[in-house]
Amino acid sequence: RPSLGERIAGLIGAGRNTEIVRAVSDVSLKIRKGEVIGLVGESGCGKSTLGRIVAGIYAPSDGKILFDDKPVAREQGRHTQKLTTRVQMVHQDPFASLDPRMRIGDTVAEGPITHRIVKSRDADSYVADMLGRVGLDPSYRRRFPHQFSGGQRQRIAIARALAMKPDLLVLDEPVASLDVSIQAQVLNLFMDLRQDLDLTAIFISHDLGVVRHVSDRVAIMYLGRIVELAPTAELYAAPNHPYTRALFESVPRVGVGRKNFRPIAGEIPSPLHPPSGCHFHPRCPFAGPRCKREAPPLAAIGPGRFSACHLNTGGTE
Ligand code: SF4
Ligand code: MG
Repeated sequence: RPSLGERIAGLIGAGRNTEIVRAVSDVSLKIRKGEVIGLVGESGCGKSTLGRIVAGIYAPSDGKILFDDKPVAREQGRHTQKLTTRVQMVHQDPFASLDPRMRIGDTVAEGPITHRIVKSRDADSYVADMLGRVGLDPSYRRRFPHQFSGGQRQRIAIARALAMKPDLLVLDEPVASLDVSIQAQVLNLFMDLRQDLDLTAIFISHDLGVVRHVSDRVAIMYLGRIVELAPTAELYAAPNHPYTRALFESVPRVGVGRKNFRPIAGEIPSPLHPPSGCHFHPRCPFAGPRCKREAPPLAAIGPGRFSACHLNTGGTE
């Protein structure tokens, strides 16, 4: 097992099929063992693409992914079994991600048997244990997906991912399609599991409220770039980047009412043709000429805190 954690470095230009969408560029992120990173941004910012690159579903057109500081051999569209078993993904839609014709016990057992994590003869008790861990009755393993609610299906999807004993879990909007009360249950389950199993995870969400309770650090993404990275408590106490601040202001708060709710000005530009310089400049109230010319690097602004804004490094003129 890794002692130093996993590093995702320099992913440049996530391309898929014929369309070269530069959905993610110049992202460098180091994830420590046992850490949960929240990845937040509006839809279309590239957070799902980044998650899929890390999980081995998309290949980076350039750049690399390192595990334990060693490159993983999986460049240019080639998936290696090694990485896909070490990184497991939980998708947003629990209805689409389970095979409707398979008993859920077989769904959970399939990967671990194929990859020799468990022997066929031990699979039944292994699956029962996994279902128990996600709060489902072990006898449910003989049922089919249609017999479960949305929240239960997401628990099954989590059990399937955990059964692979992944070094890294990527959860892409795992509660977004669930009712609010069910969301809280699944988030609580995730927090219990991370305690018990010392999980390392990337938790992707558009919802600052969801990420707050499950993440050690939060990365804010805008048009394919990470614009701010900070320990969770510090980010929520004092967001630095103008985009992060705008995101907070766009969240209606309980008790504050809708009148202080300010949507972020302007549309999200197309990721195919992102604005020059700082991608946020057309929507930023602090933008100056330098912002159009020059992309601000993600720079240290304090211990463990990073932000990509010229306001921190000499101004916007
Ligand atoms: Fe706004 Fe300029 Fe900072 Fe970008 S670099 S966030 S445009 S002030
Ligand atoms: Mg998405």
